[in-house]
Amino acid sequence: MTTITRIAIPTKGRLSEPSLDLVRAAGLVFETSSGALSVVARNMPIEVLFVRAADIPDLVRNGVADYGITGLDLVVESDAESAVLQDLRFGRCTLTAAVAESSSVTTIEDFAGLRVATSHQATVNRFFAEKGIHITTVPLHGSVEVAPKLNIADAVVDLVSSGSTMMINGLRPVATILESQAVLIGQPGVGGSSLATMIRAVVVAKRKRYVLMNVREESIAAVQGLIPGADSPTVVSLAQDGMYAVHSVVDADEMWHVLPALEAAGATAILVLPIEQMIP
Ligand code: AMP
Repeated sequence: MTTITRIAIPTKGRLSEPSLDLVRAAGLVFETSSGALSVVARNMPIEVLFVRAADIPDLVRNGVADYGITGLDLVVESDAESAVLQDLRFGRCTLTAAVAESSSVTTIEDFAGLRVATSHQATVNRFFAEKGIHITTVPLHGSVEVAPKLNIADAVVDLVSSGSTMMINGLRPVATILESQAVLIGQPGVGGSSLATMIRAVVVAKRKRYVLMNVREESIAAVQGLIPGADSPTVVSLAQDGMYAVHSVVDADEMWHVLPALEAAGATAILVLPIEQMIP
């Protein structure tokens, strides 16, 4: 009997779609139907569970799921940071302490004695306790940013990505409490399994490009000097005398500089291809 590996991913919200895309890019083939709580992949003994992002750290801790994809903020809130296997580079946001624009508060120390509305109670209590600042948390599970206006809190600690929601609600950020992004979590001991490797290979590959070009022999040294981070590009002799094909992996962020420089150095027929998976 094959044992099934289970991975829990958010069923809705902003992490849902990118998580689905990621497990599919890692090779899982499955159909989703709205309302389904789980699905077994057609091509691997892996079951995907669709659950609330906030429940995922506990499901992994309790062994219901072997792996989970959720926000680091929720992992920290569940005190499950030791389960983090991999940063996934999407769902970036910060857990930010903020006050009404008109408030006299300017530093985190000024929070002493305030009522702080948040959906991240444990994280906020830990943060202020470590600094020896006494605050009272007001637990809210949505629309945290309206709490000062309703006078149910003096300040908030809430997730921010662009900052526009805070601005619209007349709030001024005072300090960052946590930098968050989506993470892969797993039970201790499952770290090296094939699913984690497949996911890591997708995350690494997203930041890389495969570059191929034709280069005349006399330009090869110049071209090699332009390809940052490539230890040893592949150089293959072409049928035409004195011409070579150079292949290399280049950071996607560097392409902006590298491409025009390669052209100026004499490279021709330059192709830039995405990489699906990569293990450095
Ligand atoms: P939600 O989509 O509201 O269920 O949020 C789930 C997770 O998405 C949060 O716990 C964060 O990890 C992440 N997230 C990323 N950006 C934001 C943001 N601007 N506001 C709320 N959550 C965010």
